[in-house]
Amino acid sequence: MRHKVSVWMLIVLSLFIAVICINILFGKDNQIGDITPTAGINLAPDQASHRLADAIKFRTISYRDPGKFDYSQFEEFHSYLKTSFPLVHQTLRLEKVNQYSLLYTWQGTDNSLKPVILAAHFDVVDIERDTLSQWQHAPFSGDISAGKIWGRGARDNKSQVMAILEAVEYMLKNGVTPKRTIILAFGHDEEVLGTNGAQKIAELLKSRNIVPECVIDEGGAVVENTIPGLKGKTALIATAEKGYLTLELSINKESCHSAEPEKQTTIGIICEAIVKLQNNPFPATLHYVEPTLSYGIANMDFPYNVVFSNLWLTGGIVEKVLLQDNASAAMLRTTIAPTIIEGGYQDNVLPASAKAIINIRLLPGESVEHAIAKVAKTIDDPNIHIKRIGFSNVAPSPSPTYSQSFIILCRTIKQIFPDTVCIPWMTTGGTDSKHYAVLTPYIYRFTPSFKEKGEISHGMDERIPIDNYMQYIEFYVNLISNF
Ligand SMILES: [Zn+2]
Repeated sequence: MRHKVSVWMLIVLSLFIAVICINILFGKDNQIGDITPTAGINLAPDQASHRLADAIKFRTISYRDPGKFDYSQFEEFHSYLKTSFPLVHQTLRLEKVNQYSLLYTWQGTDNSLKPVILAAHFDVVDIERDTLSQWQHAPFSGDISAGKIWGRGARDNKSQVMAILEAVEYMLKNGVTPKRTIILAFGHDEEVLGTNGAQKIAELLKSRNIVPECVIDEGGAVVENTIPGLKGKTALIATAEKGYLTLELSINKESCHSAEPEKQTTIGIICEAIVKLQNNPFPATLHYVEPTLSYGIANMDFPYNVVFSNLWLTGGIVEKVLLQDNASAAMLRTTIAPTIIEGGYQDNVLPASAKAIINIRLLPGESVEHAIAKVAKTIDDPNIHIKRIGFSNVAPSPSPTYSQSFIILCRTIKQIFPDTVCIPWMTTGGTDSKHYAVLTPYIYRFTPSFKEKGEISHGMDERIPIDNYMQYIEFYVNLISNF
């Protein structure tokens, strides 16, 4: 009997090992080979750098409150583009959408080909006043120093707008007319969710029944040693992004004297609600991180290739490890962050009301209604009123990696950054792309940036090395050519 059991165990164990080995051996190599590196472009770096540096000087800051925008800066920026890229403005059709966003159409010769939309934005986030003195170069100086261009928008995202225009201007100068129509969609309020910019552009294109081949927007970047087991450079192409929802929790009660307080004041009740939310996070899933972990398996070192090609077995441990780190944890679940708390005005008066603002980043597919219901159930206090404020967007489903567009994008990346492994990824920040989901399921978010250590988005000392900026321009020349 004992003998029989051990035979069975041996068979099961062998099958088990066989499945693991098959998964590793037949893990598909998704990377395209035989890429001829680009011959380079003949464009003077200092002229292009100065054009970007000058673009940074316009204070095109976006605010939640549309009344706070200084629209004259946006109009001056428009004029600046017109004088900087004369051929673009002679050849492409330009429409100002909702006055401040820019939509350029470069008509192709073959109408049977679907257009490609290249998206970017030229608004920037405001500066934290307290940090002003700590900037090495003033945020709107557009200084060029130590081989870098400095200031707000150097990365996010004026450099991308300017590089696309540089590329088109360069191609026009070289007599290029594209086969496929190229649409340039530049939003003016991406940093405040794009509802007056990209959303209006998308609505306009939708009303014209335009179905693009794909949309390529800002997003992932070229990074080093970020995915465990993948050495060298990796290009993260965001095929998905998270949705955005802000809720206000509030409570009102009759106030009484602070010498005779109730068990809990309104502030205590709101704080307790926040604690409950923190202790009961949304469920975690590997679903959206799985493509990131498994796409590059053929290029991965042992034992990561074994672990990531057998998530059916190792998923539990991988999930635990990823949840340890804030950045990777955010890819696993809908997150909740209390960002503002208010209540009380004097030390000896009990606060009649208190409120908290919580910011929620939704996994793709997570509905706003479901998220609110989950928050209400967790708080479980009928006295707390939950209101949806600000903006909310449901994130579109992840875009497929098997499309021609994804392959062309990877090919272009490898031309500019040889020996880079392309990996699909989900960005936890938002982009204008979500608005274009009404036009196409093929949306890819990638910026050809290769950042230095210590560069933080929306942080101080935003800068771009001139070398990398020239790669941006070359990337777009190639991308348009490849399409
Ligand atoms: Zn951006």
